[in-house]
Amino acid sequence: MSSLLFVRLVGWRKRCAADCAVLFAALCGMIGREGESMMTMTGQCLCGQFSYTVDAEPQMTAICHCKNCQRQSGSAYSALISVPADAVTTRGELKTYHDKGESGAGVDRKFCTECGSPVLTHIPSMPGATFIKAGTLDDTSGLKPTIEFWCQSAQPWVPENTGAMRFDTNPPSG
Ligand SMILES: [Zn+2]
Repeated sequence: MSSLLFVRLVGWRKRCAADCAVLFAALCGMIGREGESMMTMTGQCLCGQFSYTVDAEPQMTAICHCKNCQRQSGSAYSALISVPADAVTTRGELKTYHDKGESGAGVDRKFCTECGSPVLTHIPSMPGATFIKAGTLDDTSGLKPTIEFWCQSAQPWVPENTGAMRFDTNPPSG
């Protein structure tokens, strides 16, 4: 009786180990595929005069409801990703509008002079980061905003992005 139970247990363990190996391989495959597809992102302005390639994954995917983003986008908010500045390769030209945030800190908003698309933003106090208007990405399927800024000026008819961290203004620094 007990030896039969032992055989059954060994059999179950073998099957479980095999299943786990299959599951592990499948997970690695998924991670590998996702990593590969996220490694390079491309995008462009509306007319295509300016385009970019990013060899990095987004550090942050955010929504900004500030009035200046509303004005510049002509819409309810900016959807942005931040990426390491040195991972961005560009082709074409953008003009820079030197904006200021509420705190008076500089915000360099870069747009195409042909079609007017806002594409990139640089914040001089954060030289290591490039902010990309997420709508200019060729593939936006993987985007999931996890943080929202300036919710105090959000349009009341914009639904809350469930699960994202929300800040009335900028997130507290430090
Ligand atoms: Zn353009």
